[in-house]
Amino acid sequence: MVRGLETQVVQTYINKRVEARPASLDPATLYVVCRDGVPHHLSMVCPCGCKRELDINLKTLYEPAWKLTEHADKTVSLYPAVRLNTGCQSTIWVNYNNVKLNGEK
Ligand SMILES: [Zn+2]
Repeated sequence: MVRGLETQVVQTYINKRVEARPASLDPATLYVVCRDGVPHHLSMVCPCGCKRELDINLKTLYEPAWKLTEHADKTVSLYPAVRLNTGCQSTIWVNYNNVKLNGEK
């Protein structure tokens, strides 16, 4: 994997609405985990290759929370970027299912 300061589209994920988070995540799927049909968190595998599984909170009740937008074309976007303070320290953007990465290594 080529790393650099430039933001790059790593890959296009598919997205799935699920009622329960699978025990193991497919590395190219954005899981919109819902409770009673309401998005609760987004589960995905870090796109940098570190294989870390991320569970991103979408409930504004808890901090920090991210905003998930479900588009008319069925893709999703996440705002703001997810910055990992530990491990690979990647910054991850999800935009219309395109996952971009800024790995400062
Ligand atoms: Zn990573």
